[in-house]
Amino acid sequence: MDLLIFWDARAPSGIQAALSRELEVLLPLTPAVCESHFVVTGYIPSRRQTDASVLLDSLDLYKKRTGISHPILLVVSEDLCRSGDEYLFGLSRESTGSAVVSTARLENEYYGLPEDDEDLIDRLVKESAHEVGHLLGLRHCRNSECIMYNPLVLDDINRQKRWFCPECRVFTG
Ligand SMILES: [Zn+2]
Ligand SMILES: [Zn+2]
Repeated sequence: MDLLIFWDARAPSGIQAALSRELEVLLPLTPAVCESHFVVTGYIPSRRQTDASVLLDSLDLYKKRTGISHPILLVVSEDLCRSGDEYLFGLSRESTGSAVVSTARLENEYYGLPEDDEDLIDRLVKESAHEVGHLLGLRHCRNSECIMYNPLVLDDINRQKRWFCPECRVFTG
């Protein structure tokens, strides 16, 4: 099964290949990075954030309209939220095979630290593998080093390893 990675034009460039390569190692899927023609929706001006649920709704509609049945991981730079959640690193919908991750809070810049592509790639790999893990049916894991641990803050992602614990790995083949 293939995983389509839609890369929004505003998302940081130059790291697509690295993400794709790392995901291929971690997941039982073959990733393919595509230039995204999907228009990012769900912007909430009052919050200066994008509603990730609305975004997934329109991604689902896009999939239906274009007949794409592969799981899609959309990478955006918009800061994501959802009603009840102040912010989200990403969101997935297993029933339709759609997921989105945001680079906004994965970048050092957001925290006033010097830019570092290696940090960004490392976090993006883990957060992406986490959301795709959900698409493969995985639930959250209590092991804080496992990719399926539910990260609430950046430190949680930094603590995670590029690793599915044995319990979670069973499901990813
Ligand atoms: Zn999760
Ligand atoms: Zn686990």
